[in-house]
Amino acid sequence: MYIDGKATAAELRARVGAAAADLKAGRGLVPGLAVILAGDDPASRVYVRAKAAATIDSGFHSVEHLLPARVGQRDLESLVRALNRDPAIHGILVQLPLPPGLDAEAVIAAIDPAKDVDGLHPQNVGALWNGRPGLVPCTPQGCLLLLRQWRPDVAGLDAVVIGRSGLVGKPIAGLLLAENCTVTIAHSRTADLPGLCRRADILIAAAGRPALVRGDWIKPGAAVVDVGINRVISADGKSRLIGDVATEEAALVAGAITPVPGGVGPMTIACLMRNTLVAACRAAGLAEPAL
Ligand code: NAP
Repeated sequence: MYIDGKATAAELRARVGAAAADLKAGRGLVPGLAVILAGDDPASRVYVRAKAAATIDSGFHSVEHLLPARVGQRDLESLVRALNRDPAIHGILVQLPLPPGLDAEAVIAAIDPAKDVDGLHPQNVGALWNGRPGLVPCTPQGCLLLLRQWRPDVAGLDAVVIGRSGLVGKPIAGLLLAENCTVTIAHSRTADLPGLCRRADILIAAAGRPALVRGDWIKPGAAVVDVGINRVISADGKSRLIGDVATEEAALVAGAITPVPGGVGPMTIACLMRNTLVAACRAAGLAEPAL
């Protein structure tokens, strides 16, 4: 079975949009998201445009700050602090990677944790690992929502996460641990990655290596979530996106698998909208809508 990320994301975004409309009508509250892009990386520009479009589509207030690559660290952090103070802004997202010379960790640390809708501030990272309320990174949250389409309860299952980045691998592992999975985090120095994967009831591939995971690495019936986004040139010379999993081979063995494109990708933006709505509700002291 293929897990349809596009449809799942569309449903989540519709629920977020409906909740935002209720908030506006009932409380006069409009969630606001500010996105900061430094430099002119083409892929980042595409992501930022898509995030702004989704923000407006959700009925939110959208602000974009497009800064030159040579923006100074101090100016960038001052902008973040100004947005921290702005009551119309409930979520702040700094598009990564930042241009060379800028300290991303320091910029993220400057974000008010209550507005850190990417869930990367050390306070939110700590909250995730300690089971306290915080804001959960969007892509990992999307992976978990897709897994729930396969099984609502994953407690007791063996999960293997390939990749240990702070943005994807580690927070996915933290979420699966919180769901009572037994979690192993694999990386580029893991010995016998295929053997490890063959024992996984849940396999999350977030290595950024095209078609790394082959069909014979999959335990029959396992759920496979492919986070990778890799641009490759096909034999016909055309460029296309593929994931970290050899999807067609893996689909013959897996119980459920997410495609690329149309799997985790659309969930990331939907979860960003969800986090912004949650942050707005918390800032106003309102109960979070069930989404
Ligand atoms: P990253 O920072 O480059 O981290 C990659 C991780 O994979 C590292 O921990 C690395 O190990 C590990 N790795 C690399 N090659 C490996 C191999 N051959 N075997 C085992 N482990 C290996 O990348 P990221 O930011 O986490 O992103 C991972 C992928 O997800 C990328 O393709 C990215 O484009 C995609 N992504 C998708 C979304 C979405 O919305 N769908 C969002 C974010 C990222 P070491 O730590 O040992 O180097």
